Amino acid sequence: MFIQRRFLSLYEYQAKQLLQRFNLPIQRFTVIREGELNDKNSNIVHDWKCKKVVVKAQVQTGGRGMGHFEDPATGAHVLQSGVHVVPPTRISELLPKMLGNVLVTKQGRNRCSAVMVAEAVDIRRELYLAFQVDRTGVRVLWNTNGGMAIENSHDTHMRCFSGNFGIEEAAEIASELAISPSMVLQLYRAFKTADATLLEINPVAITDDKGTLMCIDAKVEVDEAALFRHPEFQSEEPAEMSGSYVRMDNGNIGCLVNGAGLAMATMDILKLRGGAPANFLDIGGTATSKRVQQAINDMLTDPVVDAIWVNVFGGIVRGDMVAQGVIEALARSMQQKPLIVRLAGSNWQAGRDMLLGLPGVYVEPDFDRAASLAVLLASKHSNTSAHSNPINKTSADMQFTPRWCAANKP
Ligand code: GDP
Ligand code: MN
Repeated sequence: MFIQRRFLSLYEYQAKQLLQRFNLPIQRFTVIREGELNDKNSNIVHDWKCKKVVVKAQVQTGGRGMGHFEDPATGAHVLQSGVHVVPPTRISELLPKMLGNVLVTKQGRNRCSAVMVAEAVDIRRELYLAFQVDRTGVRVLWNTNGGMAIENSHDTHMRCFSGNFGIEEAAEIASELAISPSMVLQLYRAFKTADATLLEINPVAITDDKGTLMCIDAKVEVDEAALFRHPEFQSEEPAEMSGSYVRMDNGNIGCLVNGAGLAMATMDILKLRGGAPANFLDIGGTATSKRVQQAINDMLTDPVVDAIWVNVFGGIVRGDMVAQGVIEALARSMQQKPLIVRLAGSNWQAGRDMLLGLPGVYVEPDFDRAASLAVLLASKHSNTSAHSNPINKTSADMQFTPRWCAANKP
């Protein structure tokens, strides 16, 4: 369901910078961003004297190893997996296949605009260890089998600690995992200092017979209310790059909205008209046409999306800017899906005039009619498209009772 975000997810490289400050073992790494590809490319390869490196997509999602890359314009499959252990000579071949493309994982679709290259290590065993905020203090989760299998494993242990978490408490957890108490304590300190709601190391790797440990992957979520204390977590990338793509189960209408309130209303009216949202992309109050374009291209390539509803109430965001983004997105894509656009507020007429007559674009300023149109066109597209979405086949014909009708009143 629609969940308001109350935390900021850090990129893996930011999480590892945090671990580094607490002297936790991480691999030496660099980050390559989109646009740095050409000038830095040659150095990157020569910088690495080690036998193998691990090349990792920097996107805010788990399960990258199991994912694959798609070209956002064509939907073509370009590369299997978001995590590659390879000799350094292969870095330059991987980077262009990752940067600028969309990493598709079980958890969603994320545009990859940065890649981490780190010195690879041997992995003998993988452990799992996580700290989470609990009502009474801290909740520690651990598993002696970490890595990719964790999602399917039922033997994850949990303990809650209220009050102090010191070396004795750390030692209890450490003995379960057969690792050093100081490592557990340092991880806890990193968690606390960052005002994190979650700090998860999956996996902690044992890299040799001596039991040397390495934090291979780190996921950190930071309480948004505490962000003012952490300028170090402000992303260097513009906001338009970081997605606020909320995925929902069992829906097929992609929704591009501005603001959480409008997102809720959009969801309600779609449900009321017999449809279901596939996702919400909140472009916020500071959107640019580039961000609108990226959002729409993401939805055009997302196979669960049968129709796209752009529902924007202009204020700071202007209707013509949204329309410009729509036009640019369609110009870049070979995919065809019905696009319903409802613009209200600032410059909506200008936006409407830009979009009128574009094939596949339906401009409908009325909220309710736009919703019904989205439901109808999504169900039509689902029935005719090759993948034949099982969702909502008959949604347009479904019966429903408006909840505000007189009969419902007590
Ligand atoms: P995730 O798929 O998003 O969770 O990304 P991870 O960073 O956890 O990487 C996925 C998997 O790749 C890990 O569970 C490891 O098995 C493997 N992996 C990652 N880094 C290394 C490395 O340096 N060496 C080796 N041998 N495997 C690695
Ligand atoms: Mn992982």
